[in-house]
Amino acid sequence: MKKRVLILGATGSIGTSAIDVIRHYPDLFELVGISGHHNEEKLLQIASEFNCKNICLSGLELSSDILNSRIQFYGTTGLNEIIEQTNANIVLNGISGMSGLLPSIAVIKKGIDLALANKETLVMAGEYVQKLAKKNKCKIIPVDSEHSAIFSLIENFKANNVSKIVLTASGGPFKDYTYNELKTVTVEDTLRHPTWNMGKKITIDSATLANKGLEVIEASVLFNLPPSKIQVAIHPQSLVHSLIQLNDGVLYSQISKPDMKHPILNALTYPTIMENYLEKLDLTQDVNLSFSAPRMKDFPMLYLAYQCLNKKGAYPIVYNAANEVAVSAFISGQISFLDIPRITEKVLQSDWTEEPSSIEEILTIDGKARELTTGGCF
Ligand code: NDP
Ligand code: MG
Repeated sequence: MKKRVLILGATGSIGTSAIDVIRHYPDLFELVGISGHHNEEKLLQIASEFNCKNICLSGLELSSDILNSRIQFYGTTGLNEIIEQTNANIVLNGISGMSGLLPSIAVIKKGIDLALANKETLVMAGEYVQKLAKKNKCKIIPVDSEHSAIFSLIENFKANNVSKIVLTASGGPFKDYTYNELKTVTVEDTLRHPTWNMGKKITIDSATLANKGLEVIEASVLFNLPPSKIQVAIHPQSLVHSLIQLNDGVLYSQISKPDMKHPILNALTYPTIMENYLEKLDLTQDVNLSFSAPRMKDFPMLYLAYQCLNKKGAYPIVYNAANEVAVSAFISGQISFLDIPRITEKVLQSDWTEEPSSIEEILTIDGKARELTTGGCF
């Protein structure tokens, strides 16, 4: 029996890699549904290639002039409907930003396994979604490459033997820039990631190290670890996708070429590891691995994420929201690169200690943080 796969965010970078994986395993997967936000043309192309009938364009509300379109699901309600109606065995969530949260919850509420690329889901509502998944007996399988690596390493070595995890970070395009040089970098410079080809938002987050900050929070939730047991190491080659350290001090890692199709395929076939078509790493071909400490002082987004984890409450939600707003402002030329951490830090200075106890409260805090970022800080 083929696995019925629904891909949310099929038009994005994760979505495109996932479509390629599905294309290579026609006997294994059936693409039963796809969503995009605005890119109707790409969405329809994918639908035609895979003869996929369930199509959602979430960025558009239904109106009379689009009634004849092949797309039958629209807007955020459309996302809920496609999750509800496609009878998928697994959903890959490749939506970017906080908009991925409610779809993740809808998938879990339906008891469907979730291959999760959207890290914001876990940063904003980690405890809630973990509990919900347990209650509804469905799995959350991480797709973020570092977390995918650690997930499989911990499965092999067992959580009680692990003393620490090490998340690797490429360091982004400005790894060797001085603080003064960071003052004048442009959006174009920031989008030139040295090793990974990804969507705009995450590429900018990689340059500020906010992506690693979000990933530290994501790892803390997924693997139930305090911040003191999560280390970040700069590894510019992006070949070692993360490591675990066991109680005896020995490190174990997952090593492969940087290609998101690896963690996507592993999530879709979990717990089986498939032979695949992806380029293999040959260690005899002049492979160089180096590691160093992150420069937290010059890239404060990482430091701020640790602070948020230590403070708990609603701080991780606010970190994500303020950063998301600041990154949009940077993309549209309103603020400079170094304003992103400056603004995020300012928003985090308010009192966000109260722990939200429902999704409604999480969304309210997210909204307040966004308002404060937009209104007060630019
Ligand atoms: P992209 O920007 O490339 O793609 C985002 C996708 O989400 C597109 O399909 C887009 O539709 C859709 N989308 C955008 N806004 C909304 C919205 N408001 N509601 C519903 N759908 C929306 O992002 P990435 O693929 O790079 O990243 C997706 C997620 O995966 C992020 O959370 C990121 O952190 C995570 N991730 C990504 C990695 C990567 O290699 N790219 C690696 C690890 C994690 P459209 O194109 O039609 O506008
Ligand atoms: Mg990652």
